[in-house]
Amino acid sequence: MYLAYVRGPPVAVFAGSWLCSKSPVDGTPIALGEPFGDCDPAVARLMSIATTVRMAKAYGVKVFVSGELGEDGVDAAFAGGADGVLEELKFSRGGYVEGVRFVLLEPRSLEELVNSVREIAESARGSFDVLVATEFERVGVFAPYVDGVVVVGGWVTVEVKEVKTLPEVGRCLHCGVDYLMYSGSIRRCIYCGRRLSKVVASVKPPRSRAVFRSVYRKYANLSKLRFKVV
Ligand SMILES: [Zn+2]
Repeated sequence: MYLAYVRGPPVAVFAGSWLCSKSPVDGTPIALGEPFGDCDPAVARLMSIATTVRMAKAYGVKVFVSGELGEDGVDAAFAGGADGVLEELKFSRGGYVEGVRFVLLEPRSLEELVNSVREIAESARGSFDVLVATEFERVGVFAPYVDGVVVVGGWVTVEVKEVKTLPEVGRCLHCGVDYLMYSGSIRRCIYCGRRLSKVVASVKPPRSRAVFRSVYRKYANLSKLRFKVV
């Protein structure tokens, strides 16, 4: 069914092209209110994961997720810019174990975090990076003090709703404007004259982490996005 992104942050990240006949490429930002594809409504959960990861990345920290999200959830996380999957790292929980690269902590406060790190360092026989497992709401508390976060919950709300039609969508990345072509059809941005790129397509790139990463990078600096009807 044709879907629009109706509730959530001003910009969400699309994920779940494999549940759609027409959609943006995974990792593409979508403006609040915008129609985006012909998909199964289950894409909302995947968009929520991708959007949360993108927002966590905005704190300037590496972001990991757990494989417990399942294959679809993990791919959605990569569409949002995730740096990796916890279970694929050499890590230990709560303390240092020889040979690990990461120590994962679940502190209740910043004080507990920094004091735990020092105590672990006193007896560790090697260097390690610190990861904190936390809900999204608290990423901002820990991010300045750690090497990475593992987002374990607090996924932001992303709601989608069925809509009657799916117009062609042309995007000007320079201006952060999507043109929804319900009646007109334009090829260039009316503000800056640049060529518009097509947001919704039926051709899909391969479902791979490398592709998710490159799409994420393409849009990493896009902070605002609105739509205009033409
Ligand atoms: Zn423009």
